[in-house]
Amino acid sequence: MKNKSIIIIGAGPGGLTSAMLLASKGYNVTIYEKKSHFGGRNSVMNLNGFKFELGPTFVMLPDVFSETFKEAGKNIEDYMTMTRLDPMYRLKYADGTDFFVHFDKENLKKEITRVFPGEIDGYDKYMKSQKVKYDRLYKCLTVPYMRWYNYLRLKLLKAFPVMDLGKSVHGVLSKYFKSEDFKIAMAFQAKYLGMSPWKCPGAFTILSYVEHAFGVYHPQGGVHKISEGLAKAAQDSGAIIKLSTGVKEIIFDKNKAIGVELENGEKFYADSIIMNADFAYGMSHLIPESHRPKYTDKNLNGRDYSCSTFMIYLGISKKYNIPHHNIVFSEDYKNNTEEIYERMTLSADPSFYIHNPSVTDDSLAPEGKSTLYVLVPVPNLKGNIDWEKEKSKFRDLILDKIEEKTELKDIRQYIEVEKVITPLDWQNEFSVYKGGVFNLSHALDQMLYLRPHNRLEGYSNLYIVGGGTHPGSGLPTIVESGRISARLIDEELGK
Ligand SMILES: Cc1cc2nc3c(=O)[nH]c(=O)nc-3n(C[C@H](O)[C@H](O)[C@H](O)COP(=O)(O)OP(=O)(O)OC[C@H]3O[C@@H](n4cnc5c(N)ncnc54)[C@H](O)[C@@H]3O)c2cc1C
Repeated sequence: MKNKSIIIIGAGPGGLTSAMLLASKGYNVTIYEKKSHFGGRNSVMNLNGFKFELGPTFVMLPDVFSETFKEAGKNIEDYMTMTRLDPMYRLKYADGTDFFVHFDKENLKKEITRVFPGEIDGYDKYMKSQKVKYDRLYKCLTVPYMRWYNYLRLKLLKAFPVMDLGKSVHGVLSKYFKSEDFKIAMAFQAKYLGMSPWKCPGAFTILSYVEHAFGVYHPQGGVHKISEGLAKAAQDSGAIIKLSTGVKEIIFDKNKAIGVELENGEKFYADSIIMNADFAYGMSHLIPESHRPKYTDKNLNGRDYSCSTFMIYLGISKKYNIPHHNIVFSEDYKNNTEEIYERMTLSADPSFYIHNPSVTDDSLAPEGKSTLYVLVPVPNLKGNIDWEKEKSKFRDLILDKIEEKTELKDIRQYIEVEKVITPLDWQNEFSVYKGGVFNLSHALDQMLYLRPHNRLEGYSNLYIVGGGTHPGSGLPTIVESGRISARLIDEELGK
């Protein structure tokens, strides 16, 4: 394929996956990335010797990554090392109860019996039923849905009866568990998609199943090592990554995407174009409206997007010994999800997450110090919050809540470095449409055939990768989107 060329817009994990796979097949691959580093939302922020993940901290389904490297003729161990965390995470409830979610099943069951007596039977039944659901459903996530009749695929027909259509994640859990707090322990994963467990389709109970069945992982050196590894592997196969090189727009000849015009005015042409920029941002900024009748500005604005996140990155001048992953629930978790997704207001008592990776990996903070990252799910920019006005008040509220609800009573005293990212920053600095960082929501009317297609509707050679296309947001599924698009391109150009 030495004479065929591919241009990829954006060096996030989706674009890097396609680059690695296509370069390994001999295509001439060039990525144009507007930032001065690769990785997109899965990159690292270095501040005075502290290394922060910009976005992802939870890694699931490590086999998806190793199989993808293998498909490119590479051994993932040459690029990164993943360790399973056990306990996987600590959940903290408003009454002060800690629930340590172990991977080891004996320890987990002891812990369930301690905190939620009477739920073990339900847990066993849940895991058994979810195994069937996961085994059938995951196969559907690895193939494209570009025609309505793809719904007739045998894989999907087999999955339909176990997909819990018409039920929410919380609804499914209610079949198995009595304790509302235990349901929350198995439901909060809907937040990985930026959705409320009361609204997220029941099919997504596979998220808690995946954690409990296969574990949660940490790549040595940080989760951004995934993008670094993909970039290195792509470059080892000959892909070229041009950093600080933003694309201004995609060039079309009638209905064919033929190249890109860079922000500096240069134009480059290729046989296929892949867009990895955030879907709705990319559509509205890189493609003239006349070329996207299905995705007009009005249509994009009317779609449903995930929540956003308010981020506080803290370099702490002492070592904190709290677990690697900590989720602290608000007093009224359901009300908090309604504040985020329905009323779109700021909460006076939000749930939040604290990432303390230095407890596992001492490469992320200077010796004797900690790299902390606090993530608060908040409404996306469809809400009317004035972030310029609220930013510092909300930051203070979160620090108050950390002092009140966790062991980090003295946190303010030890802050050496600090950075805050608001939904407005996600939109303006990181090119994320409406700051919906987990992309288009995963409601049923935005899934499978109804999600933007891996090869954009109406074009033979414009492909989409990343969280905004099928199968959806989250590192393993984003890698799958990169695989699907690479396969479609190879089928088309390799004819
Ligand atoms: C705070 C946060 C926490 C998350 N936590 C997790 C987690 O724990 N686990 C998990 O699996 N997932 C998580 N995710 C979700 C998801 O895995 C990441 O967001 C992931 O990085 C998205 O990958 P992507 O390839 O879709 O896009 P991105 O990573 O956003 O990459 C797109 C790239 O395109 C570039 N680009 C945009 N416009 C242009 C242009 N005009 N020209 C050139 N380049 C351009 C951007 O600069 C960027 O580098 C999280 C996300 C966030 C934000």
